[in-house]
Amino acid sequence: MEGKRPVCSHCQSRAVYLDRESGAHLCSRHLKESVESRVLSRLMQEEPLPEIIGVAFSGGKDSTALLAVLASLKERIPSRLIALTVDEGISGYREDTIRHAKDVCTRLNVEHRIISFTRLYGRSLDEILKSSNRKACTVCGILRRRALEVLAEEEGVHLIVTGHNQDDHAQTTLMNAFSADIKKVFAGSGSTSRFARRIKPFAAVSEREVTLYAIVSDLFMDLPECPYAGEALRGEVRRLLNRFEQEHPGSMRNLARVEENIRARLHNKVKKTPMETCKVCGWPGSGDVCQVCLLLNENVAITRTDLQT
Ligand SMILES: [Zn+2]
Ligand SMILES: [Zn+2]
Repeated sequence: MEGKRPVCSHCQSRAVYLDRESGAHLCSRHLKESVESRVLSRLMQEEPLPEIIGVAFSGGKDSTALLAVLASLKERIPSRLIALTVDEGISGYREDTIRHAKDVCTRLNVEHRIISFTRLYGRSLDEILKSSNRKACTVCGILRRRALEVLAEEEGVHLIVTGHNQDDHAQTTLMNAFSADIKKVFAGSGSTSRFARRIKPFAAVSEREVTLYAIVSDLFMDLPECPYAGEALRGEVRRLLNRFEQEHPGSMRNLARVEENIRARLHNKVKKTPMETCKVCGWPGSGDVCQVCLLLNENVAITRTDLQT
């Protein structure tokens, strides 16, 4: 490098990012523009856009960056934004991220709604886990998904955007392949008219770009890791793919597209199992008792009759 700092391939400002695939250097402004245009073009596939877009907002770097991108596109997207946060109730961890989430929403001037496991299920995740022998991430995933659906319904949200990035997609594809979980690849995200649709506008944005976006927007915060984080396989796959991407730039992007391509080709050819209605809580699900009610151990099943039409 001889001490010479790379400059942006577009404007000669100091570069913050190197796209190893194309060899282009980008300054912070052009990096932001590049990320924003990919998110915008993904959203435009949803036209006409709904009145409200709900952003699944944990307060972590991915959803923070996504919220910042959407806020920056305010002039070009007619929808109102609402940040939707689920407070699982994880002591010693969630307090900081919730505080950060509130702060980000204030700074970006975005409406913010929070739903807690305690309000919805009567107990925090910490408490629920004490009487469960399932894996923490499995329990949390099932309950968080429902919490987000309830919050979306309460707020009249029919489209939810999530912060999953290209690296997440690539990892998931490889993990599904390793476990031969073909069903997951084909199933897509289950949806009924009751659930809000979910899309992932960062599907074509790498984790490095997402992180840099949060950093150059001055919204990055080094937050503690979830004490239950333990999807060991994902960590391994992540390291493997990062190493592979170094040697073969573009692999991550191609891998992230595999599922989408398969799904597009199989469109209309794979029958989705129709959703059933849970006889305990009335929500759509698979089986006559939904995963949430099964998990909450039947006796404390939630009965949100007020939400049923
Ligand atoms: Zn530039
Ligand atoms: Zn149920």
